[in-house]
Amino acid sequence: MRTLLLAAADTPGTGTGTLILFALAALAVYLISCRIWPFTACTKCEGAGRFRSPNGRAWRYCTRCNGKGARLRTGRRILNHLTGTRR
Ligand SMILES: [Zn+2]
Repeated sequence: MRTLLLAAADTPGTGTGTLILFALAALAVYLISCRIWPFTACTKCEGAGRFRSPNGRAWRYCTRCNGKGARLRTGRRILNHLTGTRR
């Protein structure tokens, strides 16, 4: 990661270096946001955590998020993986 940054900074003039830097900055912002807000709404139940039956009285938990209505964001899963393998 650090060597990649240095290599991008060393490339003279052309737009690719700044493009890579921009991409890395965007990735960093995304990963930081995933650290602060690790969850997003479950795609299957849209954050409700359960599905209602047509009569509206009965319901069952969403199987995908186990009724939490939340799922880990992709970036957070990557972070968890990285921190898990570090030690
Ligand atoms: Zn769900």
